Amino acid sequence: MKKTTGMDRSITANWRPQTRAVRAGTWRSDHGETSEALFLTSGYTYDDAATVAARFAGEAEGMTYSRLQNPTVAMLEERIAALEGAEACRVQTTGMAAMTTALLCQLSQGDHVVAGRAAFGSCRWLVDNLLPRFGIETTVIDARDNAAWEAAVRPNTKVFFFETPANPTMDIVDLEAVCALARSKGIRTVVDNAFATPMLQRPMDFGADVVAYSATKLMEGQGRVLAGAVCGSAEFINDVLLPFQRNTGPNLSPFNAWVVLKGLETLDLRAQRQSENALKLARAIESRVPVMLHPGLPSHPQHDLAQRQMKATGPIFSFIVNGREQAHALLDGLQLIDLSNNIGDSKSLMCHPASTTHANMAPEARAEMGVDEGMLRINVGLEDPDDLIEDLDQALTKAGL
Ligand SMILES: *Cc1c(COP(=O)(O)O)cnc(C)c1O
Repeated sequence: MKKTTGMDRSITANWRPQTRAVRAGTWRSDHGETSEALFLTSGYTYDDAATVAARFAGEAEGMTYSRLQNPTVAMLEERIAALEGAEACRVQTTGMAAMTTALLCQLSQGDHVVAGRAAFGSCRWLVDNLLPRFGIETTVIDARDNAAWEAAVRPNTKVFFFETPANPTMDIVDLEAVCALARSKGIRTVVDNAFATPMLQRPMDFGADVVAYSATKLMEGQGRVLAGAVCGSAEFINDVLLPFQRNTGPNLSPFNAWVVLKGLETLDLRAQRQSENALKLARAIESRVPVMLHPGLPSHPQHDLAQRQMKATGPIFSFIVNGREQAHALLDGLQLIDLSNNIGDSKSLMCHPASTTHANMAPEARAEMGVDEGMLRINVGLEDPDDLIEDLDQALTKAGL
């Protein structure tokens, strides 16, 4: 293996994001292949016993077992770290494995976590059900309210956990204010940045400590594999996260890592075009729906904050119609846009969160976090936006809007 310039931080640090997305992290084998190689192997062989002993002792560079290291996985980790502007990154088998690893690796019995209440359903499940089972206290708050973060802090608060924009309410968290508060109190921030990706929002530029991803979404971008990632300081990744990950084993398969690696090469183009398409679509239907929730539109109560911390607002937005029945009727009327609960795909997809992604929550909990019975969430893809507008237009008419 030859480390190319893509593995040299003193060089990649000068590259602009689009260049990093295409080249950072590239290693080449002796064949000099152009495209990153797929090392679909679980183990490694050695020339002699002394070499393997040195590797296991950490005295010689080289791989020993794919739960610990794999060349294709390492390329992806280096590329995501370079895009994020993070010292280090480790990838996991899914976004939820990433969130679970990012939290459990650093928390112990008696610690306290403050989390945003508007969140991906499984992220809320971790906070509401898993952490308390291990004696970790949790408080959920309205993450849009900076004063609520401050009021929730206790002497044993270890972590702030939130996503922005939040799924599916499109709430925005003030990254600079919340991260500064955490820093001043010695609390680590863990930001789920799945909706934006590092191309549209870099939480570390605003003081975030740990940024975690479902790479299944916009990062991979074509709905093919599940993947997750956690970025942080070298100290956090090597000393806190790695001992947990290496011994519990939520590792990403080299094949899936390779698919995401190739997906990153088009991330910037996709993120820009899908953001533009989403804005066009939201503008076209805004006057026909009772409530529009798109942070890129002036009608969003946190529009200015979104403009300050995001380069573009991404492919996803939500809107609210009159109740579950009308929401379902609208979905049933679609002819082009697929009825699907995935996001980040280059195909346009739409779903009803209250009966899908957030169906396993109590109705009161859904209402409290702002997931209305009439809410619909759309991921806008790479199709011609005029075809999407025509499809939504006819489905809105059929649903009586
Ligand atoms: C999808 C998603 C997750 C979970 O990711 P998986 O890859 O499906 O495990 C976590 N957070 C957010 C914001 C998501 O959209």
